[in-house]
Amino acid sequence: MNNNNTSRIYLARPDIRGQERVYATNALESGWVTTLGPYVEKLEKMLADYVGVESTCATTSGTSAIHLALKLAGVKQGDIVFCQSLTFCASANPIMYEKAKPVFIDSEPGSYNMSPRALKKALELYSPKAVIIVDLYGQSADMDQLLELCAGHNITVIEDAAEALGSTYKGKRCGSFGAYGIVSFNGNKIITCSGGGMLLSNNKERVNKARFWATQSREPVLHYEHKEVGYNYRLSNVSAAIGCAQFEKLEERIASKKHIYDRYEAAFAGLPHLKMLPVMDDRTSNYWLSCVKLSPESKVQPNDIIEALEKNNIEARPIWKPMHLQPLFEDFPFVSHYSTERASVSQEIFDTGLCLPSDTNMSDEDQDRIISIIKELF
Ligand SMILES: *Cc1c(COP(=O)(O)O)cnc(C)c1O
Repeated sequence: MNNNNTSRIYLARPDIRGQERVYATNALESGWVTTLGPYVEKLEKMLADYVGVESTCATTSGTSAIHLALKLAGVKQGDIVFCQSLTFCASANPIMYEKAKPVFIDSEPGSYNMSPRALKKALELYSPKAVIIVDLYGQSADMDQLLELCAGHNITVIEDAAEALGSTYKGKRCGSFGAYGIVSFNGNKIITCSGGGMLLSNNKERVNKARFWATQSREPVLHYEHKEVGYNYRLSNVSAAIGCAQFEKLEERIASKKHIYDRYEAAFAGLPHLKMLPVMDDRTSNYWLSCVKLSPESKVQPNDIIEALEKNNIEARPIWKPMHLQPLFEDFPFVSHYSTERASVSQEIFDTGLCLPSDTNMSDEDQDRIISIIKELF
């Protein structure tokens, strides 16, 4: 497909309409172009204040932030780490970097996120060192229930809020639950640095340790002294400059995403076989992607919608394929939400759901076209 094709409607593109050029130019002209600089510090401070945590470390990606969080949790070769199955592979890959063993946990039908019931079952079977809970498509997991289950087990909880910056659970922001949280500034996320991420925690000392690892574990002496394996995981000041401009638009972006969701919801209200991913009463979503699910009786399948839209040069996508169904992870255990070994909630969501175009650059007229193409199928 042609990237310059301006008439194509995308799932979610970067929305670059703020001070990005100004701040990036400032960064370039100031000479602070690499991994140190005022924009990195500014972004770290803004995120800490906004999410409501003590300390943050800006990273090259959300994935590297998860890797650092696992290291902070003390995860080593052979350790068990629980991970939500219904997620993007970046939640689980860092478990493999440390040669630890993932155990995948099913979703609950409501929020698509980790099922407390499946987690409870898994805790009777395994003793994990850490658990990675994901806030999928902009909505928080059921944190109270999940955290309570983990309490007393000596488990480090890592919240993968890569998709949920700005969302809340019972009034608290996503990324602030558990011992460590992470967010992503990848190009398709609600705000972007062109690429980047952030580790968040209330434990300042541990975040400092992560920052040390992220800068090649360079000992604080003049000559280059190293006692531990290190990583080149720090965000550049130019990227952070873009991130600072994007952050100024976060609330506006969430409002635009909600506008898109609300218009889909109103338009599909009359279609009994198509339901929006609901937002639970105790949560607010950043509405990163508008997702829908088809009823089991629906004659229209997710691929029919994806193909009909593609014929009109419009991009829609399936739900993330669950990790326990991935060839990469097929040898690792999976714990279902169901008591019988009936498929799983995550597979049902994968089989019947899809993500609709949720690009904030899209006009209402563009969205109306999408809506009428979908309605025509039913
Ligand atoms: C995007 C994403 C990540 C990884 O973030 P990157 O910045 O792309 O490395 C991790 N987890 C989830 C759920 C994501 O959607």
